[in-house]
Amino acid sequence: MKQEFIRYGYQIDSFAFNTEGKNLFAIKTGYKYPNKKFMLGAHYDNWPLLAVASGADDNASGSSTVLEAGRVFSNYNFPYTIVFALWDEEEPGLLGSTAYVPTISSNNDTLLGYINVDMLGWDGNNDSVADINVRPIGNSIALSNKAQLCNTLYNIQLGLHIVNPGNGSTDHAPFWNNGFSAIGIDEEYDNDFNPYWHTPADSLARFNLSFYQKCSKLAYATLADLAMDTLNTVGVFENTIIDNIVLYPNPTQGKVYIKNNNENTEPIFITMFDVFGNLIYSVKITKSENDYLIDTDKLNIKSGMYFVKINRANNTSKIKLIKN
Ligand SMILES: [Zn+2]
Repeated sequence: MKQEFIRYGYQIDSFAFNTEGKNLFAIKTGYKYPNKKFMLGAHYDNWPLLAVASGADDNASGSSTVLEAGRVFSNYNFPYTIVFALWDEEEPGLLGSTAYVPTISSNNDTLLGYINVDMLGWDGNNDSVADINVRPIGNSIALSNKAQLCNTLYNIQLGLHIVNPGNGSTDHAPFWNNGFSAIGIDEEYDNDFNPYWHTPADSLARFNLSFYQKCSKLAYATLADLAMDTLNTVGVFENTIIDNIVLYPNPTQGKVYIKNNNENTEPIFITMFDVFGNLIYSVKITKSENDYLIDTDKLNIKSGMYFVKINRANNTSKIKLIKN
C-alpha cells in the first residue's frame, strides 16, 4: 500500500504505536488551507489470527477504497489537505486509530472531518442499503448530511440508513471520543450482516460488486465535496436536507435547486422569506418536477440569510439559505 501511494506521488508518513502495529498515511497538501484537513481511513489488518484469514470484506474492501481514492485524487488539487489513513490493529480493539487520534491536535493542524470505511462489499439482500454511522459530536451530523446530499447529487443510488448514535466498534469511534467530526460508511450491519465475517470464507467471491462500487463512490464524492468546499460550509449545510427534500447548493451564488426524494406524489409548497419575515417567493411543486430551480438572481435580493419554508400535508420545515 505504501508503494502504491508513493507511485501516485504522495508524501508518506507512518505512526508506529507498538512493536508490531503501524498506521500508514498518504498526504495531499491543500493549496489554500494546508493546515486544515479532511481524512478518509480504513483498517488494513484482518481477523481471525489463522494461517488463512481472507478478510476480503473486513477490511480489504475499505482499505482498497482508500487506496483507489488515492489513485483517483492524485490527478486533482484541492484547497484543503486530504489525508488517506490506513489503520493497523483495529481488530484487537481499535489500537492504531486510538493511539493516533489524540496526537492530531498536537501539531498546528485542524481536522475538519473524518470518513471511515469498514466493510463495504456485502449486500446479501440486494437492497443497496448502506449505513452512515454518526453521533452528535462536532460537525458529525453535518458530515452525515453532506454524504446524503452527495448520494443524491451524484446519483449514487444507495439507500442510506442513518445510525445515530453510531456503532462504536470501528475506527471512527476514537474520533468521536476525542471530539472530532466523523462518520462511518459501511454495509448494513443491523439487518444484513455478512455471515462470513471473521471466517476464512470472507472472500472476494461473496462481494456484491455493484453495491461495493456505490459505497466507494459515496466515500469519494463526500470527501471530494468536502475538500473542494472553499466556502467552508461544514457548519452551515446541516439543514439542507429535511424530510427527504434536498436544497442545494447552500450557500448559493444564485441558483438553488430543490429535489424531492419522497416516494409519494403529494405536492409541496415552497415559500421563501427574508430575515424580517417578508415573503419573497412562493411556488407549489409536484413530484414530477424533479430539480425545481429557484434563480435567486432574478428575485432581486441582496446577499445574506433567507429562510425557505417547505410545507407538506402534515408538516412544515424551515431551511436556512445563505446567498453569497
Ligand atoms: Zn473491520
